[in-house]
Amino acid sequence: GPSVIALSAKSGPGSEPNSEDEADATGKRRRHGRGSGKENELLSAAPKAHPVSGEPRRIQTDVLQAQALVWKLDAEKGIEDNVLSSVDQDKLDAEKSHGGSMGPIVIIRGLSTVKGLEGVELLDTILTYLWRVHGLDYYGMTETNEPKGLRHVRGESKSYGGANVSSATEWEKKLDTLWQGRLQRQDPLVEMTAKDKIDAATIEALDPFVRKIRDEKYGWKYGCGAKGCTKLFHAVEFVHKHLKLKHSDLVMELTSKIQEDLYFQNYT
Ligand SMILES: [Zn+2]
Repeated sequence: GPSVIALSAKSGPGSEPNSEDEADATGKRRRHGRGSGKENELLSAAPKAHPVSGEPRRIQTDVLQAQALVWKLDAEKGIEDNVLSSVDQDKLDAEKSHGGSMGPIVIIRGLSTVKGLEGVELLDTILTYLWRVHGLDYYGMTETNEPKGLRHVRGESKSYGGANVSSATEWEKKLDTLWQGRLQRQDPLVEMTAKDKIDAATIEALDPFVRKIRDEKYGWKYGCGAKGCTKLFHAVEFVHKHLKLKHSDLVMELTSKIQEDLYFQNYT
């Protein structure tokens, strides 16, 4: 069922035991991390995104795009009320009225602390969440069922320096096209195949041909509802099976109607 994702300041991303893949733009140890040689080693081993990813302009865009992905992927999995995809609308409005152009800020409320996440810090928290919970490597432009190995980290803005404009544009276009497409698409695992749809609709269509009968001695019985048939069964599935075997004309008529309806929905 739906679950609530809550981040508290106490159990925030920096204090999780497996935060080796946390990295900031400069490759420095995060200030709230317990830095270790292993951490830095893993960080330098992680594949790097194009250096343009470290540009402040790009970070603003990526915060919004990554937040939208959190919202979308959470919704697909029934995760509700994720603080990472919520936006402090009051603050945004206040900034707008002052002509400010700051990005979103996420307020993390702990038991005794309140912390605002924004910019690079917010982006890294969101990207870590997308990777750990949804197997989405934002900069690596991949999505898997289970995150394995190292995800891509942001490139260093200072190594960009405005050079290589065409490769930067190309990289940004590829990234945005992919994730904008993902935001508009159904989860491939949720999308039913035509056959699944026909099967599900057939079961529904067979329902009126199942008679539920309460027997004083044996409890519920299920009778075949085809005209002139008096067969009784212990479960609904057996009636369906019987209908398909013994009343195939009737079932074929129903399925061809369903196929027509599906075709009509899909292609008209
Ligand atoms: Zn029958």
